Amino acid sequence: MEIACLDLEGVLVPEIWIDFAERTGIEELKATTRDIPDYDVLMKQRLRLLDEHKLGLNEIQEVISTMKPLEGAAEFTNWLRERFQVVILSDTFYQFAKPLMAQLGYPTLLCHNLEVDADSGRITDYKLRQANPKRQAIVGFKSMYYRTIAAGDSYNDTTMLAEADAGILFHAPDNVIAEFPQYPAVHTYEDLKKEFLKASNRELSL
Ligand SMILES: [Mg+2]
Repeated sequence: MEIACLDLEGVLVPEIWIDFAERTGIEELKATTRDIPDYDVLMKQRLRLLDEHKLGLNEIQEVISTMKPLEGAAEFTNWLRERFQVVILSDTFYQFAKPLMAQLGYPTLLCHNLEVDADSGRITDYKLRQANPKRQAIVGFKSMYYRTIAAGDSYNDTTMLAEADAGILFHAPDNVIAEFPQYPAVHTYEDLKKEFLKASNRELSL
């Protein structure tokens, strides 16, 4: 059997922090690992900003529940689930992804966890699932003799694409496409479906 592994942000849903920054008007929350390469420093800054603006998990989830998956993402996910076992491998947090996953029919999601104070809803800390989580998930599936086909849009996906039996770039920026010419790069869900069919070792049709 084959497992299709999908990145979440940029592939099925918008970049959550950036969309959240736009909806709340908190400009500094737009910073990403491109601006602050140390992820721990970046996350501590994000949590501090949320505190300063008195945004607890309830307020954050309220904002995120107004976000929508990318146009066509739900249809694509359903198409893929009819043909593969689908697992989403993401660097987001369960608590943030939840309102968006509801709109995608709750496919399996492996991502990180926030620590939240139950009374106040304040986010006190975050816990990464493991180091190099996307690649390690593929290693795990391979140890169970699953064939894996992975698709993602950015640098944090490239070790996952390399470890998978087949890797696909979707919605990737030009610099990522140029740096990783070994992967097919597509920009529409129709083309992504075709790449999954090509990468499969079974006779599947659109
Ligand atoms: Mg992404």
